[in-house]
Amino acid sequence: MSKFISHTAGRDLLMNRIKPVLTETVSIDSLCGRVLAQDVTTKVNVPSFDRSPYDGYAFRAEDTADACKEHPVTLRILEEIPAGNVSHYPVTKGCAAKVLTGAPIPEGADAVIKFEKTEFTAETVTIFTPCKKGSNIVQTGEDMKIGDVLDKAGTRIDAGLAGTLASQNITSALVYRIPRIGILSTGTELLELGAECVPGKIYDSNRYMLNAAVQNMGFIPVLYGPAVDSTEDISALIKKGISECDALVITGGVSVGDYDLTPAAMDMAGAEILFRGVDMKPGMACAYGIYDGKPICGLSGNPASAITNFYTIAAPVLRKLSGQADCLPKEISVKLINGFHKKSPGTRFLRGILDLSDGTVRMIVPREQGNVVLSSTIGCNVIAMIPAGSDAIPDGAELKGFLI
Ligand code: AMP
Ligand code: MG
Repeated sequence: MSKFISHTAGRDLLMNRIKPVLTETVSIDSLCGRVLAQDVTTKVNVPSFDRSPYDGYAFRAEDTADACKEHPVTLRILEEIPAGNVSHYPVTKGCAAKVLTGAPIPEGADAVIKFEKTEFTAETVTIFTPCKKGSNIVQTGEDMKIGDVLDKAGTRIDAGLAGTLASQNITSALVYRIPRIGILSTGTELLELGAECVPGKIYDSNRYMLNAAVQNMGFIPVLYGPAVDSTEDISALIKKGISECDALVITGGVSVGDYDLTPAAMDMAGAEILFRGVDMKPGMACAYGIYDGKPICGLSGNPASAITNFYTIAAPVLRKLSGQADCLPKEISVKLINGFHKKSPGTRFLRGILDLSDGTVRMIVPREQGNVVLSSTIGCNVIAMIPAGSDAIPDGAELKGFLI
């Protein structure tokens, strides 16, 4: 048994301690990707009147009861009603109105026929089949009825919801603020991009990897550091980051070596440490804490460990912070195109790329799964989980996984 808690236990420990960010009212044209902070209920029926879905003719269905090819029914056209107009004459026995797509159904009419199915002149329309009452009429409220809940608080606004709000004449909505996520890289070996490469130093790739991951989630990244391996320096940046942001993601210095100072710095900054280390590989080394209700996610400096741990534990926590109701990873089953040929004494996560080319959900597993191999994270959009105590996983095996 691992001495560490499971990734789900760690994730839940932190998730249960945080609340969503504050809310603001945002105009309809800027709502894409924002998270609703209140339920939205239908205030008006859509459509608000019975209308025609086609260019055609509106009439009384009973007038066509005996219509057939040999004995068609010819109706007199009273008027033409384009979309945006209203009728002036009720439709009576033996009469019809020409209606165009979107036009309101005139009083008296209870059926519509497409013009292609008729023969017509400017004055008359001839119908060759009986039509049912209500046929080809979009009923009032067919799309949305007064009182319907359109969407619940916690939903991310997509094109469909934005359009739905607009159809209700809703010009703005109460949404959660976009969380600001501080990203702090630590390590005396780190160089800022653009600096001359000198022996022993490396470029700070984690900060830009996490910057992209945070942007991809729709949040605002705020970059700090890189900090040298000094408890005081890291602590000062944690304090600054947490005062300016809603959450902090740190990389480096979370293991147990002499220069792994992030947990001590979190402590010095006044953060409560919730857990250190989880039963997962890569990504075992980590330190998660909380300060003033704001999560602090301390990840390994090893890039593949950092990103695997981020997607598994930090990302759901950040989604909760953003107000999203659906924060947990979307679980799927995937068939490994190529297996993983080592034993897994502890829980192991494989990063990979979904392949839907044969109509089934398969996963390409990059051969290099090591925690220092950053290049094999390129294009990854799925993570599969090998349960602790598993033997080598053969090609074609099916595993549970989640989408990134
Ligand atoms: P640490 O977690 O501090 O023990 O670092 C583990 C490994 O990750 C070391 O080889 C570090 O040099 C490397 N590393 C730490 N931070 C970064 C970073 N920001 N970008 C790339 N590699 C890093
Ligand atoms: Mg280090």
